[in-house]
Amino acid sequence: MTIPFEVKSVDRDFYQEHLQGFLPGKLIDIHTHVWLDQFRTQEKDERLRAVTWPHRVALDNSMEDLRETYRLMFPGQTVTPLLFGLAISLQDDLDRGNEYVCQGAQKVQAPALIFADPKWSEAEFEAKITAGHFLGTKVYLTRSDPKIAENDIQIYDFLPPHQLKVLDKHGWIVMLHIPRRDRLRDPLNLAQMVEIEKRYPNVKVVIAHVGRAYCPEDVGNAFDVLAETRKMRFDISANTSVENFELLIRAVGPRRILFGSDLPITRMRMRRICESGTYVNVVPKGLYGDVSADPHMREVEGDDAARLTFFIYEVIDAFRRAALKAGLGSNDINDVFYRNSAEMLGEAGMPDSYLHDHEGR
Ligand SMILES: [Zn+2]
Repeated sequence: MTIPFEVKSVDRDFYQEHLQGFLPGKLIDIHTHVWLDQFRTQEKDERLRAVTWPHRVALDNSMEDLRETYRLMFPGQTVTPLLFGLAISLQDDLDRGNEYVCQGAQKVQAPALIFADPKWSEAEFEAKITAGHFLGTKVYLTRSDPKIAENDIQIYDFLPPHQLKVLDKHGWIVMLHIPRRDRLRDPLNLAQMVEIEKRYPNVKVVIAHVGRAYCPEDVGNAFDVLAETRKMRFDISANTSVENFELLIRAVGPRRILFGSDLPITRMRMRRICESGTYVNVVPKGLYGDVSADPHMREVEGDDAARLTFFIYEVIDAFRRAALKAGLGSNDINDVFYRNSAEMLGEAGMPDSYLHDHEGR
């Protein structure tokens, strides 16, 4: 098969120096996208209410590519993914995408979430999840009513109460990428996150990317509010903020933090910096096409470019540094990278056999 990306000595060196001794032998990746390009609309959606740079990294991510990515990136680990699709555009083929995830997950005995449409009725939503043996749902803001402008989208526009009710009844999972320009510090986001936890206590809510708090300016008083919560979990995927990871650890402790990759976009070769409160992905010149129109992308050349490794390595290394500052031990690290997710997936209905030699403790 064709290798979906190149592994260089800079990557192998980075893994050996920073990650190999830090990571436990078994990982659960709680945030993984798999889909085929043929499920995506071929029309350019001008109204797509999301950033554009992720599309430049991977056209698709098949089950085979995902397995190969884990083998290349984590040579010393076995990785169990929680799988879901990618149906960001309203024109994407949601049903075929979900069918692909369902079949792939059954074949390799891995857990999966359905990519949901907020228009599905209560009964439809419940029937689709049950029929596909999913453990819950992945939702995304671009599936909200197209009449709503990106900055006005609220959590309930794409995770409606009637679907939360179903998730609550079954104790299922929702992977939630929060909306709005102010990200984690947005008071409406925070109020609704807290409200969901109170009103639907059995739903296993995972806030993706630490609520998109990629820079210190994205935080506001969020961690004071979150320190009062008891259930919601946070995945560290696609976030490289050592400062925010440390604040998260101190606010909610290591038992509600989950490792996630957000593959395939995090096989991107890049380093993230913050400037005036905005994140910028520093990438090798030319590798991701013409990025001049994207304020979140910046190109570098020569030695600066040669030093860049995978986004996912940068994420794990940032968490490693935050864990050191916050005084986490190896049991805590194993919790974040494996045990917390193993327990959550088990409670949501995943058969024990999916984690073959899961011994627990
Ligand atoms: Zn994602």
